[in-house]
This record gives sequence, C-alpha cells and structure tokens, in this order.
Amino acid sequence: MLRGAALAGGGVLLGGATALGGATRSAHAAAEPHVHTRANWGARRPRRRARVLGSGPDHIVVHHTATANTSDTSTSHAAALSRSIQRYHMDTNGWDDIGQQLTISRGGHVMEGRNTSLAAIRAANHTVGAHTAYHNSHTIGIENEGTYSSATPPEALMASLAETCAWLCAVYNLDPSSAIVGHRDYNATSCPGDRLYAMLPELRSETRTRMRAQLVDEDLLDGSEVPEEHRPSYPERPMDERRTEHFHGPALGEHGGGS
Ligand SMILES: [Zn+2]
Repeated sequence: MLRGAALAGGGVLLGGATALGGATRSAHAAAEPHVHTRANWGARRPRRRARVLGSGPDHIVVHHTATANTSDTSTSHAAALSRSIQRYHMDTNGWDDIGQQLTISRGGHVMEGRNTSLAAIRAANHTVGAHTAYHNSHTIGIENEGTYSSATPPEALMASLAETCAWLCAVYNLDPSSAIVGHRDYNATSCPGDRLYAMLPELRSETRTRMRAQLVDEDLLDGSEVPEEHRPSYPERPMDERRTEHFHGPALGEHGGGS
C-alpha cells in the first residue's frame, strides 16, 4: 500500500489561490491520497446530512480506534471496520452518522468517514464531525485502526497517515508542526495511545517532508493566527478510563455541533 511517489494520484497543481470562507488564505492544490468512498465501504445512510462550514479546520486530530491490532490488511477488512464504527456511533451512541471524517486501516487503506467529508475537503470546507468534544467545529478527525497504548502502528498505516496529513495541510494551508495533534491534547483521554502519541513529532516531520516533495508553498497558516479557544489544552489523562471497543474518549460536547 505504500504509494512512495509523492506525485501519485493525479499530480500537483501549483499556485492555486482560493478564498476560504471569507478569509483570503491561499489554498494549495494537493496530491490527494486514494480515499475509499462511503459507497465503497457500504456506508448506511446518515439520519441527517452533516453540517458543512465554509472554511477549513485549524487542527488535525489523530485518534486510534481502540479495536484489535488485526493482521488483516485487506480492503474488505478496512470496509468492515468502517461499517462497524458507523454501527457503534449510530446504534450505540445514537449519532446521526459515523463521527470522524477519515479512517485509516492497519493495511493503510484510507476511508471516507462522515457524509460529505470528501467533497468538503476537496473544496477546502469543513464537515463538522463528532470525534473531539468541544472542538468539532474546527478540527478534522482521523481514526487509525488499532490500540496503540504499547503496540507500534504498522508502517503502512503511518505512511498513509502522513500522506493524508500532507494532503489536508496543503488543502487547508496548515503548518504540520502545530496543526497535527492527538485527541488527548483536547480531551481527558489516553487516545491515540502512548505509543502513537509519542510518534506525532515524527508524523509532523514526515508530513512536512512530503509537502516539500510536492512543492507545497511553505507560506502556511501560522499557529498564532488560531484563536486561543481552538488551541490544545493538554488536559490530564484519566486514570480509570472506560475500556470499550471503539470508545476512545469524549467525542461530543457543546460547540460540537450535530451528532
Ligand atoms: Zn480519540
């Protein structure tokens, strides 16, 4: 699943300038990873169409799925995982749809999550999801299959995660060093697991490397332009966290928008 060539997936367009929801940041056309659509994985219809905002998120939140570290790297397994998460979010949590915008399997397959997510990203807009309590209106969530409290994520997953982050940072004009955070940076949770969390600096650096390879302009949104209330608060990790498959910490809360 490694797609080594940075220019794979349709090449790179340079210098595209697009107004983002009233702001005048320039958006970079980016190399898009292969994303399996909701139709590809057999998504159920959402109860309601997701809310789409006319400007992009300012942070990318990395999660783990708190499911088994399977050795099945097939696309069919990745599709089944997405259906399973959607079932949990809709039937157990009672939400309108799957919560996160993107899911990446241990085989490195990138799957669209919440309805409208892919179209919104391509348009540099933001589909409001349900993955990080109090911060859903300005963050995009990527659920990475597995449990990474002590296990190390597979290379295929990390490669696809970096490719996906490079795409999102280019589309939304984000600086990977400040934009890529873990769920625990906002909510009291161990998500995305100590091991994956410890790999975030490496992910930021790998993302930047890929952006450079794609000749993405380095004039990225500086973290200092992000409103204070949007910045990570680094809460304490809970000691007695609930251990349930698919549960990886608080995902909904006021300002969350939708469910
Ligand atoms: Zn999480």
